[in-house]
Amino acid sequence: MAGCSHLDTVEFLEAPAEIPGCEDCLREGTRWVHLRMCQACGHIGCCDNSPRRHATAHNAATGHPIIRSVEPGEDWSWCYEDELMFRLAPG
Ligand SMILES: [Zn+2]
Ligand SMILES: [Zn+2]
Ligand SMILES: [Zn+2]
Repeated sequence: MAGCSHLDTVEFLEAPAEIPGCEDCLREGTRWVHLRMCQACGHIGCCDNSPRRHATAHNAATGHPIIRSVEPGEDWSWCYEDELMFRLAPG
């Protein structure tokens, strides 16, 4: 089974303690459903169930490949390039 080859882009492992919301929704005045963090730059965006899909838009705009969920109790990551789900957080 092939693994993700983009792990060297990961700079942000843990979710921030305080997350005001999707950065782009807050700027645009739109609503989000679930929050995702770009693990290359720490950008907080919203999931594909959200109207504006800012996490995926951020991937398209920047090429940053890996996001993780920052929903409470969730620690999975997702690589857009490899279309792989995995867990990077220790434990
Ligand atoms: Zn990858
Ligand atoms: Zn958003
Ligand atoms: Zn990013």
